[in-house]
Amino acid sequence: MAGSLHGERSAAQIMRRRLHLPVVLITMTIGVFALGSCGGRGPTSPSEITPSTPAPTPTPAPTPTPPSITFLFDDGVLPDNRIGIEDGINLGYAFLQAQFQWQLAQSITVRVTASSAFPPASAGSNGVTVNTGNSNWTTSPDPNRRKIMVHELFHVLQFHNGWVFSPTWLVEGSAEFVGYRGALIDTGLLSAAQSRGCHIWNISFWSPPMGPLQTYESTIGDGPTYSLFYLAVERLLGERGVAPLARVTNFQSSFGVSQAEFYGAFEQYRTTWQRPSRYECFGFR
Ligand SMILES: [Zn+2]
Repeated sequence: MAGSLHGERSAAQIMRRRLHLPVVLITMTIGVFALGSCGGRGPTSPSEITPSTPAPTPTPAPTPTPPSITFLFDDGVLPDNRIGIEDGINLGYAFLQAQFQWQLAQSITVRVTASSAFPPASAGSNGVTVNTGNSNWTTSPDPNRRKIMVHELFHVLQFHNGWVFSPTWLVEGSAEFVGYRGALIDTGLLSAAQSRGCHIWNISFWSPPMGPLQTYESTIGDGPTYSLFYLAVERLLGERGVAPLARVTNFQSSFGVSQAEFYGAFEQYRTTWQRPSRYECFGFR
């Protein structure tokens, strides 16, 4: 399950108050009197003590706070529904750092609600929102939740890296492919071949048959379209790994093929798919 790209924009802001402690200069006038000194000096007049001029107090430069990820759990979020959120985001950030050398340029928030609203998860440049009351979330196994979190965090990367959000199948398929890689395949829970078979299986049962990939340039559409998008991105990348997905602003320059050429090749590839002999999705979807 993949969430809408366009979701929660608002993020709770953390207010930091700086305490400015006044520097109080206490000037102490000290009178020193020599009492009954033997042949010594007379009383020392306070005027003889010249207090040193205090050096200007330097204004400390504010310590820059590195961008971070803040988790905000609303009241009412059930403990069971928290599963997969923090570790999925942390796993995802580590994966995106490793694959794309991504470093947060601004802090983001992961807002977790008890709402049953759809979609179960969404993303924007400010972070990720998870609606843990949605049935797609409550019925998801833990690994699938982590996959969703990696998917959504990749959308944040797309915003931060200046992706051009078109075509839809590429924007969503990239997030889905990265989600599977980061949470399931690279963690050893699923092989790439098993994942491919799972998605082909999903599509094979959809009736009427799903349209050509080009159908989904500006719409997510109905049915297991994320499986179709996943398979398209996997095919598009070939043996290159996920690196070309770091920032896509022009299809041809990112992938070395025109969109029209790829559509033709992909429809040809679809004719070679064979439904796996058994269900291989292991509850992931
Ligand atoms: Zn998405």
